[in-house]
Amino acid sequence: MDKKNKFDVIVVGAGFAGMYALYKLRKLGLQVKVYEAGSGVGGTWFWNRYPGARCDVNSLEYSYQFSDELQQEWNWSERYSGQPEILEYANHVADRFELIKDIQFNTRVLELDYNENTNRWSGKTDQGDRFDTQFCVMATGCLSKHNVPDIEGLDRFQGELLHTGKWPHTPVDFKGKSVGVIGTGSSGIQSIPIIAEQASSLTVFQRTPNFSIPAHNAPMDKNHEAAVKRNYREFRKENALQRAAIRMTPNPESALAVSQIERDTVFEKNWLKGGLPFSASFSDIGVSLDANATAVDFVHRKIKGLVDDPEVAEKLCPKTVIGCKRLCVDTGYYETFNRANVNLVDIKKHPIKCVTESGVSTSTGDHKFDALVLATGFDAMTGAILSIDIKGQGKQTLATRWEAGPKNYLGLTINGFPNLFTITGPGSPSVLSNMIVAIEQHVDFLSELLKFMQKNAKEKVEASLNAEDDWVDLVNNIADQTLYTSGCNSWYIGANIPGKPAVFMPYIGFPTYVEKCKEIVSDNYRGFEFS
Ligand code: FAD
Ligand code: NAP
Repeated sequence: MDKKNKFDVIVVGAGFAGMYALYKLRKLGLQVKVYEAGSGVGGTWFWNRYPGARCDVNSLEYSYQFSDELQQEWNWSERYSGQPEILEYANHVADRFELIKDIQFNTRVLELDYNENTNRWSGKTDQGDRFDTQFCVMATGCLSKHNVPDIEGLDRFQGELLHTGKWPHTPVDFKGKSVGVIGTGSSGIQSIPIIAEQASSLTVFQRTPNFSIPAHNAPMDKNHEAAVKRNYREFRKENALQRAAIRMTPNPESALAVSQIERDTVFEKNWLKGGLPFSASFSDIGVSLDANATAVDFVHRKIKGLVDDPEVAEKLCPKTVIGCKRLCVDTGYYETFNRANVNLVDIKKHPIKCVTESGVSTSTGDHKFDALVLATGFDAMTGAILSIDIKGQGKQTLATRWEAGPKNYLGLTINGFPNLFTITGPGSPSVLSNMIVAIEQHVDFLSELLKFMQKNAKEKVEASLNAEDDWVDLVNNIADQTLYTSGCNSWYIGANIPGKPAVFMPYIGFPTYVEKCKEIVSDNYRGFEFS
């Protein structure tokens, strides 16, 4: 193979994970090359350009901390910054750390094949490139393979068909148009209020209602920003001790230990603060059905207070426990259903029969649209990795290995797939944490591991089978003590993708995960096999 196609490391993906992996691994003196399917950096923030797209973790936290110069010089304009600003930040990071020269854009990796004789991986891209590398870093994203639902006739639609996860790069103008939106997860909930303001009419097709907490987004409080920047390191350190590595003030009290009036006072305070910290209102909301029911009752009352039509309000009230699906964070979502141009269709009751040339046909009639928006989410956590044909030791494919659900060690390394790493893979805190924090922790761990190998002249590393089995058991045991596995049809267990194995994928608890990683390293990388 031509020398120019031989690398020490190839990184797949140039979102926040791939960008940081490139920055960090280059520092080890390794020759690193990144392949990215999109035409720019930013990953999630490159693809999800739908109206209203913004982070639901405070911007002072949803940003890199590896460079103090970077975190001091960058100023966020809002409490929860919008997609354009986050993308601008990603581009700034790419320029500042000279990342672009090692990234090949518009290139999708299709195949990765491990050769046992050479202990190297060979790969192929959709642009016809072939490459050879010792290490593969999968920075392919937990939420990057968008899910197009299998609805009959979708390809027949003659109007504008859009997906929130693959939004056009040119502005979409809904002014004067009749629009349909399918899906009421975070993407639907963020985009619906804005589409409703522009469109002449909007019909929302809801299969399962979701809980949403108001963001109370606002321009960045400059005094707060300055205070954080004066002590950024300490701020980050404190946040990393929180369960989701997101700044909250968890209430140690049980929701069941106080009177309804006291409980409502706490819920009301957190509702007014807004965002994800609502889930930390009491200590047992995530583990006790009775405690959870008190939060459900509070949010139901809020929805009924915000939505004028009692029938519509009832349809919008989720009947599941709160928090077993990702909590949504909105700006004016429930209020949008008071608008005269907005209509809510419960498609559990009145299923979509098919999409026609002019719109959507349900059991109660036809809806005609100029534009149809699919806010139908992602094949989460495993979708992007398994879209690549990965063959490990003995030519076993990863798809076969993970047929019954993903198995790995620390969410990072897979037995039988040496020298291949998954950044924020299933089995790591990933989507149940501030993801930029989780990304940095994983890349730092990997960098130390490769340094250890360089120092000890090791060429090959993989998880032992026992370590992997124990890890998967641990991830499941932790989840089973919570309400995440209480029967919710969440993407955390793959329930949104027909035929996907029902396995709870993320590790719950960022601080305990970090402690486990440290303990494993200090025990000579227990569970890792080197040769
Ligand atoms: P991604 O950003 O998904 O990047 C993966 C990249 O890999 C993509 O650019 C993709 O094109 C590329 N890729 C995949 N497969 C291939 C291949 N075979 N070949 C070449 N390239 C490939 N998390 C939070 O913590 N807080 C938030 O507020 C938040 N908001 C979000 C809002 C939206 C709309 C979405 C969808 C997710 C949000 N997330 C949030 C999660 C978000 O995905 C992560 O925070 C983070 O951006 C993930 O970075 P990443 O680099 O791991 O993956
Ligand atoms: P999602 O949460 O999976 O929501 C998808 C929606 O589409 C659900 O309402 C789902 O209904 C519906 N749906 C899926 N397939 C369908 C079908 N065949 N027919 C009808 N309806 C269908 O996806 P998302 O909203 O894109 O969010 C995914 C994740 O990305 C979030 O949970 C979050 O982690 C992240 N995100 C964050 C933000 C943010 O606020 N910063 C914004 C967007 C995304 P069911 O519930 O019945 O399956």
